[in-house]
Amino acid sequence: MKHHRNTWQKKRVQEVIDEFDHTFRVEEIHTILKEEGIGIATIYRHLAKLRKDNEIHHFTCDGRALYSKHNIQHTHFHCSECDSNIHIPEVNLPLGRITGGKIESFQLDIRGVCKECVTFPDF
Ligand SMILES: [Zn+2]
Ligand SMILES: [Zn+2]
Repeated sequence: MKHHRNTWQKKRVQEVIDEFDHTFRVEEIHTILKEEGIGIATIYRHLAKLRKDNEIHHFTCDGRALYSKHNIQHTHFHCSECDSNIHIPEVNLPLGRITGGKIESFQLDIRGVCKECVTFPDF
């Protein structure tokens, strides 16, 4: 019967994931499912399988895991002056050409000075 229970739990985890449009965190899934008795370890196991099958993409955002079904890229621009962390929606890089391979997902962490803080020398 243990096998049956696991199958039912995985199905529920998948149903919750199916409802997310953009990005999601494991805690968001757990908040929805904990009352149904589904533990965070079950959710992590299912996410690991989806990652292995390349059905979801995995990023690190704010030091924590962030997942997405459709976004294959995640880019931060971190300002060293005001410490803000800006999300850059889309970066176009010829990664296929650079790597010679097929890109599944990528993350960029850019450091610099944001447009609010930056000062350019006067000429
Ligand atoms: Zn982020
Ligand atoms: Zn700044």
